[in-house]
This record gives sequence, C-alpha cells and structure tokens, in this order.
Amino acid sequence: MENYKKIIEDIYLDLKDVEDTGKIADYIPELAFVAPDNLGINITTINKESFGVGDFEKKFSIQSIAKILSLTFAYKLEGEPLWKRVDVEPSGNPFNSLLQLEADLGKPRNPFINSGALVVCDVLLSHLENPKEDFLNFCKEISNNTSLSYNEKVAQSEKSVGFRNVALCNFIKSFGNIKNNVDDVLDFYFHICSLEMNCKELSQIFLYLADDFYTTVKGKRILTMNEAKRINAVMLTCGFYDESGEFAFRVGLPGKSGVGGGIIAIHPDKFCMTVWSPKLNEKGNSYKGMLFLEKFTTKTASSIF
Ligand code: GLN
Repeated sequence: MENYKKIIEDIYLDLKDVEDTGKIADYIPELAFVAPDNLGINITTINKESFGVGDFEKKFSIQSIAKILSLTFAYKLEGEPLWKRVDVEPSGNPFNSLLQLEADLGKPRNPFINSGALVVCDVLLSHLENPKEDFLNFCKEISNNTSLSYNEKVAQSEKSVGFRNVALCNFIKSFGNIKNNVDDVLDFYFHICSLEMNCKELSQIFLYLADDFYTTVKGKRILTMNEAKRINAVMLTCGFYDESGEFAFRVGLPGKSGVGGGIIAIHPDKFCMTVWSPKLNEKGNSYKGMLFLEKFTTKTASSIF
C-alpha cells in the first residue's frame, strides 16, 4: 500500500489541474445537480488496507455500477441457465441501444448494457419476494455496510424520463425474454441504479471479485471462484460499452462505469479501486476516472497484462 499512496496523491494533484472535456449526465434531471468538480479516489487491498483522497467519502449515484451487484445476485440464484437469457459478448454499441435486439431475437449481448441489465432484473424479480428490499439486503450483507440505500429522488427522476428503457423492456418482452410485468421490472431497475455509495464503500463491496476470501460472507458463499472469474471477464470485455476495448487498452483491468461518474476497477489478487469524477466522455464514461486509472496502472505497472 505504501508505494501506492504517493502515486495516488501525485496523480490526484495532477488531475485537479487537467481541463475536463467531459459533460455531466443531465438526461436524468436529478444527476445534473451534482457538483462537476468532485474528484474522489479510493483503493482497498485484499488485506483490507484502504486509502482515499479527495471526495472519496461523499456518496454519489452509482448507476450502472450496480449492474455488477444485480448480476452477482441473479447468477447466485439462477446459476448457469442465466446465460440462456443474456449473452457475454461485447456489443460495440452505446449502453442504451436498441439496435441489435431485433436481430438477436431479444437476447441482450451482455448484462452490462441496459437491455441485459433489464433481463437480469427480470430474473431477480422471478426469484425474490420483495425485490427492492431483498436486493438492498443482499448488498448490505456482502459489504457488511448497513448504511446503503436507494435515492428515491434519483429513481423517480429517471422513471420520469426513462423512455428508452421503457422501449427496451417492452421490446424484449415481445420476444418473451421478460417474464414479469414491464412496469415492475423498470421500477426495480431504476431503483438499483439509484443506489448510493462513496468511493470507499464501493472499493470495499467489490472485494469479492478480487479475492476468494471475500466470496464467503458469514459462512455463505456469494460466488464460486469460477463464477467470480466469469464476472471479471465480462467486466473486462463489456464494462465500458463501446469503449470497453479502449479501457482495456489504456487501463488493463476489469472494470465498470456508471453515468454518475464512478468507475470501479479490480486487480484480481491485489485490490479494488474506485474513482469518481462526474463529467463523462462521449461514450458515457468518466473522463477523469479513465485518465486516473490509466496513469495509475501505468505508473505502478499493475494492470493484468
Ligand atoms: N440508469 C442509467 C440508464 O439506464 C444507467 C446507465 C449507465 O450508468 N450507463 O440510463
């Protein structure tokens, strides 16, 4: 950890002065109220040493980062048949695209684009009695963090403008790959996306993807090692939508972004790292977040490649 600290602080100071060419996600009205110059970084190593700088303790909307948690929960409950409903191929298209669904007969390319995440939500709805409550409890349990909550304002704000997600969900339903009521699936999806966490909490909750030790919580297994490997693989190939290749090229770690400006990146057997900077590049990924991680893995030679 000691050698990481200085490098993190140096890059943080460098980045403070870099002009941010990104734009805050304002298509969800509530997200536009976030101060654009927030910048937080946190790293947690597999021996639970944690270090953060800047706004690492401010909560923010984790948005699509929550898709890892919903995928984990659905994989745990459904097992291998999950992959009959959603594929594991990069889409090469924006996260909210409808384009490939027609040709692919309603089977989304992967669980991290919106269409795939909606199908994962549908799978969870079929398993859970009180989906919103049960999902939140699952997140609290695996992180040992009782302070987690949805942001109702953000969920309602997205619901009021979520026409594309409504279209995606109906379209998939027309192929029979959504089993539950469309409104229920969407309501659940908007809520999981509204989950709030800070950089520190995020880098702790995902330790189960970095080390087998954390895949068992209070005697219960979250995932097998092989399942964790698979989720990391999908993150590496699909975690940044049509910029997944670019992220692998520049950063070289499995990761996942959200339009709230957060990015988490995993180094299996070493650490989980979070960066938060709300302004996004044209692909919907945090501009400074990617830049930070690129500099970090380059300076510390800690990519998986
Ligand atoms: N809730 C957002 C949406 O559905 C999530 C997108 C994202 O974070 N990339 O548009």
